[in-house]
Amino acid sequence: MTPEEFRRHAHRVADWIADYMESIERYPVRAQTRPGEIADELPPGPPTAPEDMARVLDDFEQVILPGITHWQHPNFFAYFPANASPPSVLAEMLTAGLGVNAMNWETSPAATELETRMMEWLRAAIGLPEGFAGTVHGSASEATLTAVLTARERVLDWAGNAHGLDGAGRLTAYASQEAHSSIDKAIRIAGIGDEGLRKIPLDESGSMDTGALDRAIARDMAAGARPVCIIATLGTTGLGTFDDLRRVGTVARRHKLWLHVDAAWAGAALVLPEQRWMIDGVEQADSFLFNPHKWLLTNFDCTAYFVQDPQALVRTFSILPEYLKSAEEQVINYRDWGIPLGRRFRALKLWFVLRAYGLEGLRSMISSHIEMAQTLADRIEQAEDFELLVPPRLALLVFRYRPKGMGEKSLDALNEALLARLNKSGRAYFTRVRAGGRLAIRVSIGQYWTQDHHVAAAWALIRETARGLRPEV
Ligand SMILES: *Cc1c(COP(=O)(O)O)cnc(C)c1O
Repeated sequence: MTPEEFRRHAHRVADWIADYMESIERYPVRAQTRPGEIADELPPGPPTAPEDMARVLDDFEQVILPGITHWQHPNFFAYFPANASPPSVLAEMLTAGLGVNAMNWETSPAATELETRMMEWLRAAIGLPEGFAGTVHGSASEATLTAVLTARERVLDWAGNAHGLDGAGRLTAYASQEAHSSIDKAIRIAGIGDEGLRKIPLDESGSMDTGALDRAIARDMAAGARPVCIIATLGTTGLGTFDDLRRVGTVARRHKLWLHVDAAWAGAALVLPEQRWMIDGVEQADSFLFNPHKWLLTNFDCTAYFVQDPQALVRTFSILPEYLKSAEEQVINYRDWGIPLGRRFRALKLWFVLRAYGLEGLRSMISSHIEMAQTLADRIEQAEDFELLVPPRLALLVFRYRPKGMGEKSLDALNEALLARLNKSGRAYFTRVRAGGRLAIRVSIGQYWTQDHHVAAAWALIRETARGLRPEV
């Protein structure tokens, strides 16, 4: 493809994306295809002869699009949002065009220096103390694994890196029962194992029970285990609960344990000064992450990972073969701060987003989502046949349909059926969750294009669909 041909196709692609943004509400939110339906449309092997790009683009619309779940649809209330704001998409186009691998300073000084500055901007934007330095990761899962590996090596005085884990003894780690599955994964990969992960129950406030945490650590130490880290969550994925950082941090300090904070979703809300209650005590944390690729308008992938002591990362991850040596000594090489060598130039989209919206724009979007959730929570509370199962947190609601006179058992099946029908309708998309053992509908408001009337329509849809189920009382 010549640059001239590229120009022609790129204009078509840019037009397509703009049209998509304009007309996204035409599409069903969740893909309506059956398993295997898209695969059946694809030839079993690659073409031998080159194909015309115009045909490939046509097939993108014909074959691929029907199997797309539209995360940018304003009626996307499932999981957490993955917002691809227009400025962020522009930056991704440029990033793809540059095709930079930002592994070292030298492989693109601008990528490294912009990343450093963007992490300073983000740190200030969310009110983290100045001691934290940051880097960009591809996912919260990767950043958490980085934290667990660093914590493990610090406990072992870097003997794990040198000799492996033989002789390391029983390693343990601590997180709340509501912690994300990425924590279980990191614990496995780090060689601590499922059996070494202590899941601490929640107290009435929704925080991990710090008394139980303290006792679990003391018990493990008395039994000769080596506690590695505590992982606190701000805004759990299922219910949106918050660990009390000050109390958890006090326990971490007492036992000299690494404290990692997973604020993947809720961290974006820290751009609002009135939400900073959740990081009270964060100065006791060793590492902290949140995902601008969720609620902060930066398209997937972009995780902000902050640490108090970058040297601990470098000691854990730096390996320097001859071909990576360079003359510069006064520079940061982010390859030494994490797992992959090759790194995408993700700082560019943060720069575009932060400049295009400013803190004011980000704050007004997030506070409007929180208000929409509050309005919906009020409506749910007023409806006689619905109930909220946990107090609303930020823009996350967990509730269920509960027509009078129905027993607990049939309520689970009823809500299951309701959720299936809602998601199948293509008019809105929600996730299921269990709250205190009860099957519930989870509504996460945070999509960039979502406005009040979308939430009002979603509520009307939920009520209509629920009543259409005609439960046999
Ligand atoms: C979404 C989420 C994650 C996982 O994020 P990835 O970037 O997809 O790895 C981890 N923790 C919490 C609390 C989350 O909500």
